[in-house]
Amino acid sequence: MTFLHGIAASNGIAIAKAYRLVEPDLSFEQKQVDDTSAEVDRFRQAMSKSKAELEAIRERAKVDLGADKAAIFEAHLLVLSDPELNAPIEEKIQSDKVNAESALKETADMFIMMFEQMENEYMRERAADIRDVTKRILAHLLGVQLVNPSMIAEEVIIVAEDLTPSDTAQLNRQFVLGFTTNIGGRTSHSAIMARSLEIPAVVGTKTATEEINNGDLVIVDGLKGEVHINPTPELVEQYRKVNEGYEAQKAEWAKLVNEPTVSSDNHHVELVANIGTPKDLKGVIENGGEGVGLYRTEFLYMGREQLPTEDEQFESYKAVLEGLTGKPVVVRTLDIGGDKELPYLDLPKEMNPFLGFRAIRLCLEEQEIFRTQLRALLRASIYGNLKIMFPMIATLDEFRAAKALLEEEKQKLLAEGQKVSDEIELGIMVEIPSTAILADQFAKEVDFFSIGTNDLIQYTMAADRMNQRVSYLYQPYSPSILRLVKMVIDASHAEGKWTGMCGEMAGDETAIPLLLGLGLDEFSMSATSILKARSQIRNLKKSDMEKLAQEVLNMQTTAQVIEAVNAATK
Ligand code: PEP
Ligand code: MG
Repeated sequence: MTFLHGIAASNGIAIAKAYRLVEPDLSFEQKQVDDTSAEVDRFRQAMSKSKAELEAIRERAKVDLGADKAAIFEAHLLVLSDPELNAPIEEKIQSDKVNAESALKETADMFIMMFEQMENEYMRERAADIRDVTKRILAHLLGVQLVNPSMIAEEVIIVAEDLTPSDTAQLNRQFVLGFTTNIGGRTSHSAIMARSLEIPAVVGTKTATEEINNGDLVIVDGLKGEVHINPTPELVEQYRKVNEGYEAQKAEWAKLVNEPTVSSDNHHVELVANIGTPKDLKGVIENGGEGVGLYRTEFLYMGREQLPTEDEQFESYKAVLEGLTGKPVVVRTLDIGGDKELPYLDLPKEMNPFLGFRAIRLCLEEQEIFRTQLRALLRASIYGNLKIMFPMIATLDEFRAAKALLEEEKQKLLAEGQKVSDEIELGIMVEIPSTAILADQFAKEVDFFSIGTNDLIQYTMAADRMNQRVSYLYQPYSPSILRLVKMVIDASHAEGKWTGMCGEMAGDETAIPLLLGLGLDEFSMSATSILKARSQIRNLKKSDMEKLAQEVLNMQTTAQVIEAVNAATK
């Protein structure tokens, strides 16, 4: 039995066989061949295996993910049967007497380069299809297996170096019981998504992919951040009991689904949910969410080949607004960059992606992308209680520029005779220290703040949220962070505005008493954390928490703060 320690990223216990999601080695050497017709045959066989495989994936994707997601595999099949690509490969094998791997790679690289340089965006995107198809054929030539999470058809625990947010979005909840990765932190987006999918996860184990083989029995303990490989039957039994206890606890919390979130001295706060897609609404409603405090719209843009159209976006926003029947919905405009990539935008790689060209910075420059989203939001605004929020605002000028674009699009829509709500509140994420420090000035112009602690902590501590070696600096209870949070809340209240928090800190058991004491108005978290938080808040007295908050602001270390919270809430 082997044991790994990592970061508890998503609550719960999962016990199942391991499925390694590890990219195979596709390296090869260029070789001369004598029997060129045998080599052509080998190439054709790899082609037909790839074709059969793609057809199966396409059918499966149609059922699991819908026709539009399956269309990508249709495009791959088209590339595969294109004689313009195949004929030159076979000719190359014949004329240069090289192995099929080299002929394939050289020819494909030439086409990829050609497509990437084209003016037309649609044609440029075809380069990605050729790249994917080439990988598949190459895998068959080399006799190695490509991994494909959407093809999993038995209960498994995924083991990977890392999972991108779009990998995570494709995981099938029915079969993927848990996952563990080598890298990542509690606020990396795969961890955040695991929480909303209610998949237990342990990230940042450093060596999971080295230690775990396909088929090993694995326990993922997302409560403690532990992974057990090939555990003894006794340990499995022990964990089944822990799991039963956890389920019983959840059943207790579930009784609060229709209860208000009030402290024991009757102070009401809003408990709302973070969502990534309209599909997450079900979880919000089942968990008694009082609205949505953060709709991360970037997931609409991911796992596809091109930007979503205005109408597609409109439908998603409308679905969320209607689904919540008048409850508040805070939609955050596109926050791409950092660990959320859009390969089809072809943005240059950056040295420091979290400090780079992302979120509002990108939107203010790529205005067409931004305007399309704003129009879709404005059109959807009449279907519910919409609030719009801009991410990564660092200066008042950025806020004003974004607001001006929103106003321009609104005027255009009205001139076209479209209806737009007059009551859309406009706010910003406070996730950059400069904005927290200048909150008193921002508060004069915005309708609300939502504190994004995932980023605010990484920028305040100068510690990359994806890097587990500096994850000890993710210190939400540090007096430095709490002082920033206080500045923001106080600044908003002085102007009669409200402050929410949509970073992971808002759902954290130790932070909640402090945030209540600091006067936070709205707590936005993974839907699955809502009932537990409600139960906790109902047992806290706001006036006591105010005193506690006041005390900890003058403490020196995180450890002292934790101790004070534990003593005050026992
Ligand atoms: C945050 O930074 O706290 C936040 C909620 O945004 P994201 O995690 O998407 O960066
Ligand atoms: Mg952020």
